[in-house]
Amino acid sequence: MLQFDPVRLPKGAEVLRHEVRDFLAANVDRIGTPNSDFSSGHDAEFSARLGQRGWIGMTWPKAYGGAERSFFERYVVTEELLAAGAPVSAHWIADRQSGPLLLGNGSEGQCARYLPAIAQGRSFFSIGMSEPGTGSDLASVRTAAKRVPGGWRVSGTKLWTTGAHLNHYMIALVRTAPPDGNRHAGLSQLIIDLAAPGVAIRPIRNMAGGEDFNEVVFDDVFVADADVVGEPGNGWSQVTSELGYERSGPERFLSAFRVYVEFVRLLGLDPGRFEAAAVGRIAAHLMTLRRMSMSVAGMLENGKAPNVEAALVKELGNNFEKLLPEIARAAMPINGDQERFRRTYAETLLLSPSFTLRGGTREILRGVIARGLGLR
Ligand SMILES: Cc1cc2nc3c(=O)[nH]c(=O)nc-3n(C[C@H](O)[C@H](O)[C@H](O)COP(=O)(O)OP(=O)(O)OC[C@H]3O[C@@H](n4cnc5c(N)ncnc54)[C@H](O)[C@@H]3O)c2cc1C
Repeated sequence: MLQFDPVRLPKGAEVLRHEVRDFLAANVDRIGTPNSDFSSGHDAEFSARLGQRGWIGMTWPKAYGGAERSFFERYVVTEELLAAGAPVSAHWIADRQSGPLLLGNGSEGQCARYLPAIAQGRSFFSIGMSEPGTGSDLASVRTAAKRVPGGWRVSGTKLWTTGAHLNHYMIALVRTAPPDGNRHAGLSQLIIDLAAPGVAIRPIRNMAGGEDFNEVVFDDVFVADADVVGEPGNGWSQVTSELGYERSGPERFLSAFRVYVEFVRLLGLDPGRFEAAAVGRIAAHLMTLRRMSMSVAGMLENGKAPNVEAALVKELGNNFEKLLPEIARAAMPINGDQERFRRTYAETLLLSPSFTLRGGTREILRGVIARGLGLR
């Protein structure tokens, strides 16, 4: 088993960190207004450039276009990209979640067909779990697939689907058989081509004025048998196994990081005691969360399914993402050019209600943690 000290990364990972920083400096033209929220900034060209460097699908087998690097190396790349506020949302879900799902549960044909294009930063995926009336209670999905020769016909509506208006595929959780007394039975995951006949996508404007999530309506959409992920009916265990990947990464505590950057910039090199204490308070939170999140990366590296640990990281990380702007605002100096700080602060504030909703709400995560601790 790999021994891992979460503070001192393996040497190769630190070398890589400098390569990523050099890359970001060379590609600063793609960054525009930096935003550390992983879901803002869909830039196919930037993703393709990352793909050329081998920084998407980094941990995957070379046979499928991956680089066979460690989870820690992947971690370094993702945290550097987020800290710089780079536009990562195009490839984010495919890299973090859809690819690993296919590697773990997909067929040889699916891995050969989909993974190389993801790793090249040319193929983007969405998550199709939530529906009108179905969010926290995911087993209540009503989008249904009916058996037809050679495949399935899908009808129903998915909601809040991040990036569907820009991405190529959705991995959707659908009902392929009645529950028969067990709500978790009869669910399957299908790869749906978002350009297929019968798919209608309507972007939904968020409070910050952006359009990143969507309503996606399926009207008798054909999906071939070859695009069922795993065995039909096995969707529930597959979908829950994605959550370790979805909930533990640095994107769960770095969404507000640019506020910190602008805060420190505004303070300059000689902050007062009160301001310095605020900088230190944020840094202490960050370091602790990073250490926890990297421990989960270590568990993933060792083939474990750290769902409870990931829920803990997300719950604490999301709270911190909301706390960070408040600490900075309370200590913000009244002198100096505050324009950049104000802009980043305002944008983060408008996006922040989503931090504790997306990827599982606070109450649901607390329930997962309580169950993991044997309290319920
Ligand atoms: C920015 C953003 C992006 C998203 N992207 C995607 C995506 O790409 N794909 C996707 O499938 N979904 C996506 N979602 C949807 C997200 O997963 C859901 O919003 C979330 O799971 C909550 O579901 P809901 O909105 O239906 O709320 P509900 O489940 O109706 O919950 C409403 C409130 O009730 C609470 N609650 C519910 N059940 C319980 C319970 N048993 N005990 C205690 N409290 C409870 C919740 O915590 C919440 O506070 C996204 C959401 C956001 C905000």
